[in-house]
This record gives sequence, C-alpha cells and structure tokens, in this order.
Amino acid sequence: MGQQVSVNPFVLDIDGDEPCLVGGRCVDCGNVTFPRYAGCPKCAGSNIEPIELGREGTLWAWTVQGFPPKSPPYLGANDAKDFHPFGVGYVELPEVIVEARLTESEPGKLKEGMAMKLTMESLFKDEEGNDVVTYAFAPAE
Ligand SMILES: [Zn+2]
Repeated sequence: MGQQVSVNPFVLDIDGDEPCLVGGRCVDCGNVTFPRYAGCPKCAGSNIEPIELGREGTLWAWTVQGFPPKSPPYLGANDAKDFHPFGVGYVELPEVIVEARLTESEPGKLKEGMAMKLTMESLFKDEEGNDVVTYAFAPAE
C-alpha cells in the first residue's frame, strides 16, 4: 500500500490533520500571494513568510476544461480517452484569490459566489505506488 503524497509540498501541505494550501505573506507590507514568491510583487520586499491559507472560500469565476491541456504543469491523464473534463476556477479565500481545479465540471452546478471548500484529487500513482494528489475545490454544500 502506498500513501498519499503532495504533487508539490511547496503549495500543498498534506502532513497536518487537514490538507492546506501554503501561500506567502510579505512581512513588510502584509501582501499575501499564492503561490509564494521570493519577492513581494507589491513592495518588492524579500521578507516573505509561508502561511496556511483558509480552506473555505467563494467561487469567483470559473470555466470547464473540456480537453487535455497541452502544457505543464498539468500532470493528469493526457490521453484523450482517459481524460475527463474538469472545472477550473478562481476561489476567493480569506487571504487571497487562488486558481484551482474544481471537482465539479457540470456547468449547471457551478455558480458565482457559491461556497467552496478545499479537497484533494488523485493525479496518478508514482513508481512506489504512492497516490500523488493535487488540490481542488468542491462545492461546500
Ligand atoms: Zn510587500
């Protein structure tokens, strides 16, 4: 039996009780970004600390990806036959707006301003049989 591993521990921390997204907060001006950058885009400061972002937010804008994306960092099934459409959206968390996959891909079930919560989705198995997961948002109700 493998275990779950984060596709990118820099942005998705799954070692705690609950998975959380990790953003960066500028110590000088308080600006928060996701993902975390080496420098603050607002004040050009370089004193950035990692922070856990809230797990719930509201859907801000979204679209449905109906064909396999061509470019990285997409790591899921790239064969058209294995591909399932998925939603992609901007979710407004208490600290910052993040772009993420959505578990829901039915356009009729998504609407602007709806409550969303953080969850994880399996991408693939690695050579050791671990389940490689990424973050996604699911409707909260
Ligand atoms: Zn700053």
